[in-house]
Amino acid sequence: MSFESLNLHPLILKSIVESGYTEPTAIQAQAIPEAVAGHDLMASAQTGTGKTAAFILPALQKLTEESPSKSRGPRILVLTPTRELATQVNEAAWKYGKGLRVKTVCILGGMPYPLQNKLLSQPIDILVATPGRLIDHLERGRIDFSRLEMLVLDEADRMLDMGFIDDVEKIAAATPASRQTLLFSATLDGTVGKLAQRLLKNPKTIQVASQQAKHENIEQRLHYVDDMAHKNRMLQHIIADVEVKQAIVFTSTKRDADQLAEDLFAQGHAAAALHGDMNQGARNRTITKMKRGAIRVLVATDVAARGLDVSGISHVINFDLPKFAEDYVHRIGRTGRAGASGIAVSFASPKDGLHLKRIERFTGHDIAPHVIPGLEPKRTHRPSTSKPASKGGFGKPRSAAPGGERTFRNDTRPSTGGYNKPSTGKDTRRSFGDRGR
Ligand code: ADP
Ligand code: MG
Repeated sequence: MSFESLNLHPLILKSIVESGYTEPTAIQAQAIPEAVAGHDLMASAQTGTGKTAAFILPALQKLTEESPSKSRGPRILVLTPTRELATQVNEAAWKYGKGLRVKTVCILGGMPYPLQNKLLSQPIDILVATPGRLIDHLERGRIDFSRLEMLVLDEADRMLDMGFIDDVEKIAAATPASRQTLLFSATLDGTVGKLAQRLLKNPKTIQVASQQAKHENIEQRLHYVDDMAHKNRMLQHIIADVEVKQAIVFTSTKRDADQLAEDLFAQGHAAAALHGDMNQGARNRTITKMKRGAIRVLVATDVAARGLDVSGISHVINFDLPKFAEDYVHRIGRTGRAGASGIAVSFASPKDGLHLKRIERFTGHDIAPHVIPGLEPKRTHRPSTSKPASKGGFGKPRSAAPGGERTFRNDTRPSTGGYNKPSTGKDTRRSFGDRGR
């Protein structure tokens, strides 16, 4: 399939060519014709597969026809869960819409109101926003949605996770019922499905690859770590490798992100932190530096890294495992963008057993353990019946006699012998529908 066959305006096609794209990705090939035909969409595809263009291109196509309305409010509204994602979508809208001279505006929390008020008082084609700040403006009567033609919810699942559901529904209720609605999400299950039922009209469902699909182009490695000191040595070893063009290191907390970034910087690495406590200006500057290659190691929390699209990222390192299994999929999706290959490394300490298992259950496959010679774990980690990964001659650590040693994992797999932790008989697993935040 070619972009030409999608019936897009020649000026849109020109911007696609200028972007260097030769053919649509699977989600683009399926979503664009349906969206251009005017259908509501409920779409999901793996990270890094070009979902942004899948909704921006049909939005731009709409803009090639003049609005019958005399009002100046936005014709397209895109809602995203995070500021970074909003910025990226806005840049994409600008990039693909250059030839059409579309007026795009981005409304984010953490930015000064007076400038936003001014932007909102001018004619707007595409408005990209995070829900919280948009609600503020809406309640102050600063936005006119009377001519809105299309509402896009990007990463709808994440918006729900982050508690934006009421805001999203309030915003949707302020837009004309005649609008077209496109919903993009990593998963289309449960709550997202219910939201879709309320906001979409006879939607077409497009599911390119399931969340559980293997990221074939991303090599996933597991490193067992004994303690924090071991973890730090391992991290230093990995990022010292010249193969690491750029890396994102994920930590659980903002404080750890700051601390680790500082430590790495002190060790001479071009490192910086990215998390939700930084002001927007600082976050933007960090991402710009990352894109320019001025930062090689970004230490981030989940919230700040969601949707981040930096082509140079060769490695994702889960210094701490994510709290929620689906975040694992989003994290590793920061590498291997647009068909490139990438490496995702996860550290698992004895206390991470349950977490690790949830992740593996969610993705549907075990992460192959790797050992770095000289940095072998000393403690016994989970016994496994899966085959050791033997890439580059690294074997899986195996303990011959774990009796008396600490084991940590209440594994439901058959024991390989010597595994002495008695089963409690209780299933301590938590379902993924049950998200306590
Ligand atoms: P997603 O939202 O699915 O995670 P993005 O929309 O951020 O993915 O796109 C990921 C990367 O792929 C971006 O760098 C984008 O420029 C690139 N890309 C998008 N569409 C194409 C295409 N048709 N051909 C090549 N690269 C593309
Ligand atoms: Mg996206």
